Parts: sequence; C-alpha cells; structure tokens
Amino acid sequence: MTESLVEDITRLKRQKNAVILGHYYLRDEMQDIADFVGDSLALSKQAMQTKANIIVFCGVHFMAETAKILNPDKRVLLPDIEAGCSLADSCKAADLQKLKDQHPNAMVVSYINCTAEVKTLSDIICTSGNALQIVNQLPKNQEILFVPDKNLGDYINKKTGRQMILWDGVCHVHNQLIAERIIQLKQQHPEAALIAHPECTAPVLALADFVGSTAAMLKFVQTDTNQSYIVATESGILYQMRKLCPNKLFYIAESTEQCGCNDCPYMKLNTLEKLYQTLLNETPEIILSEETIRKAQKPLLRML
Ligand code: SF4
Repeated sequence: MTESLVEDITRLKRQKNAVILGHYYLRDEMQDIADFVGDSLALSKQAMQTKANIIVFCGVHFMAETAKILNPDKRVLLPDIEAGCSLADSCKAADLQKLKDQHPNAMVVSYINCTAEVKTLSDIICTSGNALQIVNQLPKNQEILFVPDKNLGDYINKKTGRQMILWDGVCHVHNQLIAERIIQLKQQHPEAALIAHPECTAPVLALADFVGSTAAMLKFVQTDTNQSYIVATESGILYQMRKLCPNKLFYIAESTEQCGCNDCPYMKLNTLEKLYQTLLNETPEIILSEETIRKAQKPLLRML
C-alpha cells in the first residue's frame, strides 16, 4: 500500500513538474518522500530557487504561505489546510497593530512562525537560526517589538543584553517541556549532552549544553564528540539525527513518560495519502492577495 502510494506520488510529481518540500518535524515516511527536507530558513531559500511549477509544502500553513509570498507566480499546495501552528495563531494582525500604535517608533522583528498578515506589519523576519544575528545588527538604542515567541525573544534578550518587548506567544510543543523532567532525564543518562531549541522555556535552556535551531542542532551532533544526546525539541528531528549519526544515541526530552507528547499535531497531519490527493487534485492551494504578498515580501527579502 505504502509502496504503491509512493510510486503514484512520484509519478504525479514528475507529470506536474512539482517539488515536495518537507520540514524536519514530519513523519519519517514524509521526510523520505520530500525532495528537500529542512528547517524554515532552508525551505524558504529552497522555495525561491525551485524551477518547479507547483510547490507542495509538507509542513504547516504559515510555511506554505511563506513559500507563496516568495513565489507569487507558482502554485503552492498544502496537503492539509488544517495544519496550523499554535505559535502563529497566538498573534493576530489586529492585536499586533494595536501594540504598534502604542510604540510608533519601534521596529517589529517577527519570527517566521507567524501569519502572512503579521508579516505585512513587520520590518524584518527572522528564524531561530538567524534571530541573534539579525537583532545584533539593529542599532543598540532601537526599540524592538519581538513577535510571536516569547521564549525565543527572552533568549535573544539574554544573549544581546537588549530589552525587546516580547509578544506573549509560545509553541505549545516546546513550551510544555519542563526543567524537572529534563533533570530526571539527565540523571537517567548522565553521559548524554542536552541540546535544546530556543522555543523552549528559560529554565530548560539554562540546563542545555547547546542551544540552536533544528539545522544547528543537526550540525552540532555531527561535529560534537559526545556519543549521546537528550534532545529538547519536536520528535521528528530524531529521524534525521539517527540517519546522520547511526552510532550515536538520541533520547527525546518528553515532558512526561507518555510517548508522543513531543509530536507537533499540526505537522503530523501531513500523510502520504493526503499528499497523493493534493498532487492529484491540486488542492488545497494557498491563495493570498497581491497586496498581502507585496507587503509581506519586504521583511522576508530583508532577512534573506
Ligand atoms: S512545532 Fe510548534 S512552532 Fe512548530 S509548527 Fe508545531 S506548533 Fe508551530
């Protein structure tokens, strides 16, 4: 069943000159079928370079929107239109506009995990991989509104000594990881290094041996001398880590012993069956107005 689905997807992809982009948090089989697997930054760049007529974005809604903003002339499809994001949902454009009105001189630095409407209100976009570098490039006395992830914003504030005003949003997957559980895991695996994504809370990050984006974590485990790791992020990343470092051990830092609590439910909505239907019917498609694309492009291109 899976094999024939994979064959059908591959055939349709060729027929329609489509490219499949996939995020590291996808199910294993979805990562395998993607032409490119990456984090938000890598996939944004890949979306700009593709010569395909159709981009099928296996990820969540804001990512597919980003691909559309960067490729207005291409069709961008998302296998499940319900694949949202708790972090992007926490920041509504109308509420951000109210905050901007209260801080007319502030620059808005938005983490890429936000809606297209929020991007239209932003001065520059960042990812977890380049947020530190981007904020460091802004004038020291510049007032900054950082949206929507307060954990990432707090981490950048601590690293830079700035006092950016932080939006009160979190990724529910990373935010549920608690330090007490991490300490238990460290006691169970004292030889393992703790690596964490900056969307985790400050007490978890304070325990980490390495903090970085998904791409940075992947690079770290390949070059670091440790042989085992406790990984504080979404569980899908372990598939790539085990492929890249088959002789190393990886333990996911689940907040409870219940398996699966580190799965992003939105990412896991992407399945082979839905991908096949999407290629076949060329729907669901991401549709954005010309004005939204024009305004949202500016802060994205500034980052890229
Ligand atoms: S892992 Fe968190 S930030 Fe990423 S898509 Fe899921 S809810 Fe959004």
